[in-house]
Amino acid sequence: MITRRQLIARGAAGALALALPEAAEARRLTRTQERALRTAVRGRVLVPGGSGYDAARVVFNTRWDGVKPPAVVQARDTADVRAVVRWADRFDVPLVARSGGHGYSGNSTSASAVVVDLDALDAVRFNDGIATLGPGARLGDVYARLASRGLTIPAGSCPTVAVGGLVLGGGMGLAGRAFGLTCDRVTSFDVVDADGRRRRVDDGSLFWALRGGGGSFAIVTAVRLRTRRVTTAAFFSVSYPRGAREEALQRWDALAPKAPRELTAILTLTTDGATAFGQYLGSPTALRRLIRPLGGVPTVGSADYRTVQRRWAGNANPPRSAFAASSMYVTKRLTASGRRAFVAAADTGATLILDAYGGAINRPDGDATAFPHRDARFSVQVISYRDVATARTQVRRARKAIAQYGGGAYLNYADPDLTHATRGYWGANLERLRRVKREVDPANRFRPAQGVRPAT
Ligand SMILES: Cc1cc2nc3c(=O)[nH]c(=O)nc-3n(C[C@H](O)[C@H](O)[C@H](O)COP(=O)(O)OP(=O)(O)OC[C@H]3O[C@@H](n4cnc5c(N)ncnc54)[C@H](O)[C@@H]3O)c2cc1C
Repeated sequence: MITRRQLIARGAAGALALALPEAAEARRLTRTQERALRTAVRGRVLVPGGSGYDAARVVFNTRWDGVKPPAVVQARDTADVRAVVRWADRFDVPLVARSGGHGYSGNSTSASAVVVDLDALDAVRFNDGIATLGPGARLGDVYARLASRGLTIPAGSCPTVAVGGLVLGGGMGLAGRAFGLTCDRVTSFDVVDADGRRRRVDDGSLFWALRGGGGSFAIVTAVRLRTRRVTTAAFFSVSYPRGAREEALQRWDALAPKAPRELTAILTLTTDGATAFGQYLGSPTALRRLIRPLGGVPTVGSADYRTVQRRWAGNANPPRSAFAASSMYVTKRLTASGRRAFVAAADTGATLILDAYGGAINRPDGDATAFPHRDARFSVQVISYRDVATARTQVRRARKAIAQYGGGAYLNYADPDLTHATRGYWGANLERLRRVKREVDPANRFRPAQGVRPAT
């Protein structure tokens, strides 16, 4: 079976993933600051020019390889996180958390904020149907450990994405319509707040903000999530030639957002053709029947749940690469002119990836958590792996071509080129998020790019 990554990469076939970093020189720490930081923490403190700094500072998207933070602190444990936050308060230095470094927009690095690297906080534990995950736990490990107990959580398909950033932005994957977003499964967070205190958060405005509001509010040191029992899954894929893309989109749009919630289906559109694929928590026979309206000649199969997740993941350790991306939500069924616009957008050279929403994702109200896009039929990710200048142009053109058919944007597919980005990510929830920020972090200590600023 073809992997999700291969399906997505098709549009980028043959393209060179050149790293053309958008350089940003480090603001340096003073000697006093650096000495105090080293004294405060047990983990490594890496600063510009020091050994290990260059390896420690880079993130998954090589587009940000030129960004040089004043320091990277590799926290060993929660005590280290508390120590960094207290240090930052003393010297009034901004911080940005990093778990897996997969943020599209380089939002876990910064030229001015010290990076708090949580990679080592990667524990995966279980108790009574609840998984307790460290923010640095990678999805591949999480799926494997849960599958050994016949359990899962809904999450993304890339095995090296970490729980921390994923859950704070929402978390969409191939069990999404069945079980909801990753953030919808959270029962509590352990955090270090802006005062350097350790807190359990399971209620109130901070709990609301952490489910979709991103990394502006606290540093998450553990997440507890309700697991679901699942042992096998069916899967399918069906490809369409270039000339059938509009028809493929019409068929997919009619079926996927309103299908039984056990089915989560994705459609990719490229200049060469279209591919629909997805996962069904039921039998392959039922799946075959269900996807009949998609036409074409589908490949259908089933396997134990872990094997299916491995297939979606493809490479267990995908290489770092440079890309530009954006996203948008569509709430109404596309008209014929809408479908033409989507195909024209794919003809810019960018790949469009449409994730069906509905089902459990749309059950909560738009203001139930900070993640606001609960009325979407589907999200559209626009992505290009060409050299950065070309990729940005393709993505901008493609998004413009479809802009009139949707709105908003998905924080986990953050786009640094987006105007009014925070409104796009949080819609009508933005004002409340700003008030929460004022309440929990009035000094704006936690400062990811395109983050929430305190209300004035
Ligand atoms: C190849 C690839 C595939 C992907 N597939 C999917 C997918 O299928 N579904 C999906 O929903 N998303 C997907 N994503 C997007 C991914 O979920 C987001 O980029 C997510 O933010 C990555 O989390 P991270 O911890 O690895 O990233 P990071 O870059 O470490 O963090 C991202 C943001 O979260 C903040 N943050 C991270 N950890 C913490 C913490 N512990 N406390 C406070 N703030 C924190 C950071 O400051 C930053 O702003 C994919 C990304 C990539 C690169």
